[in-house]
Amino acid sequence: MGSEDHIVMLPFMAHGHLIPFLALAKQIRARTGFIVTIATTGLNAQYLRSSLASSDSDNDTIRLVELPFSGADHGLPPGAENSENLPLDLIVNLFHASTALQTPTHDLVSKITAEQGGRPPLCIVSDVFFGWANDVAEATGTRNFTFSTGGAYGTLAYVSIWTNLPHRNLTDSEEFSVPGFPDNRRFHITQLHQFLRKADGEDPWSKFFQPQISKSLEKSYGWLCNSVEEIEPLGFELLGKYSNRQIWGIGPLLPPEILRKSGTTTKVRRQSGKTPGVSAEKCIEWLESHEPGSVLYISFGSQNSINPQQMMELAAGLEEQSVVSFLWVIRPPIGFDRRSEFRSEWLPDGFERRMEETKRGLLVRNWAPQLEILSHDSIGGFLSHCGWNSVLESLSQGVPIIGWPLAAEQAFNSKLLVEEMGVAVELTRGAGGELGRERVKEVVEMVMGKNEKAEERKRKVVDLSEHMRAAIRDDGEKEEEKGSSVRAMDDFVATIFRKL
Ligand code: UDP
Repeated sequence: MGSEDHIVMLPFMAHGHLIPFLALAKQIRARTGFIVTIATTGLNAQYLRSSLASSDSDNDTIRLVELPFSGADHGLPPGAENSENLPLDLIVNLFHASTALQTPTHDLVSKITAEQGGRPPLCIVSDVFFGWANDVAEATGTRNFTFSTGGAYGTLAYVSIWTNLPHRNLTDSEEFSVPGFPDNRRFHITQLHQFLRKADGEDPWSKFFQPQISKSLEKSYGWLCNSVEEIEPLGFELLGKYSNRQIWGIGPLLPPEILRKSGTTTKVRRQSGKTPGVSAEKCIEWLESHEPGSVLYISFGSQNSINPQQMMELAAGLEEQSVVSFLWVIRPPIGFDRRSEFRSEWLPDGFERRMEETKRGLLVRNWAPQLEILSHDSIGGFLSHCGWNSVLESLSQGVPIIGWPLAAEQAFNSKLLVEEMGVAVELTRGAGGELGRERVKEVVEMVMGKNEKAEERKRKVVDLSEHMRAAIRDDGEKEEEKGSSVRAMDDFVATIFRKL
């Protein structure tokens, strides 16, 4: 094992996928010395390059290869290579366009093979959405492993519902069972995002997801999961059974410094290469002026927004309650261009000024230094869309969650947080979900007020954060002293060396 061994990684083109893929690449590189190549489109390579450049020492250890890409044939505007800034109804076009990466990926793997004297890369590690990577692996004499950037429970729900469409024939009930889950874990139609709810196998979403996900399930050699076995044992057990593959829980793929946190503020290296609406220093300064556990952090991830009425009610509810202060990553509501100038009419009259004067609330436009914020002691809750990276980041810091799932597998993550982990309360569901200010006040009180259930949630989430820390322990001499994620990574590495 060493510098001549090569791995090729293929992330889907969205920040929530690029960030964990890069973290996994760094981890494999650091552990093994393999050459790790991430292949993606020019724009996404640029994002990764700037992220590597901002993280000190490791900027020359990961190779970035730009694959030729044009979404024009799929109706995408020039330059649209990432789900960010794409209107929701064009995201399916990006998915379809991504299958055109198959040929340049095949060429890349063949080139690497030729450069290595006919020896193909050890393996390909591809996104769940890139089932075609299995064909590339087969044609070039290597193996494909699927990397799910999500949790095991959410991944299973997502792949099973897309491939089986168990809700298709619902007649008199809004609840349904999902293949792969026991009967007492039923799902609700409102937990499916709008495209999945309407899917019938013939729509453009099904036509992408069904073949790509099925191929990842049926052909990939095994699955890596950005999660920790101890925090969601049921998810790991069920995904392993359903896929009939080995699942390696190698998470949480977070900067190590956030997991070593012990004091008030952690200096976390910025991962995204994006410029925040308010600098990390200013956010921290603002947080410093608040009591421990007294601030609610609000963010809907890298690409989701809420609707204008919901935004108004959320603001009004936050202003009327007196339990918490809040730091809100705010972006234009649905129906407005993501890049449009901020308009004060989106919020109650004078809201931002009042919040600023009283220090009750800090509004951060578009992007915030989330890891720095979540690792600050003043944060006592996270109103989140339940994207898996945000979930891991929150759990790792022992921060209970108020769930507001909006898209993708987020409602399944929220279900896991509420029903299995017991660390969250769901506020509402979806960009069409009903939300009144009274509900906002009620849920803030439930999660961050002084009551027994809130304390129990806090105890549970602190317990999960300890399991996450333990999972990445790597300082013991003996194998059994290593954390589960470290052992899983070692086992994955041993597996890719095993003969086909
Ligand atoms: N993020 C951030 N600042 C923001 C919004 C998001 O740093 O203002 C980061 C967040 O820390 C997480 C990622 O972007 O690592 C979002 O991933 P997630 O899976 O939570 O949601 P997605 O964006 O994929 O819906």
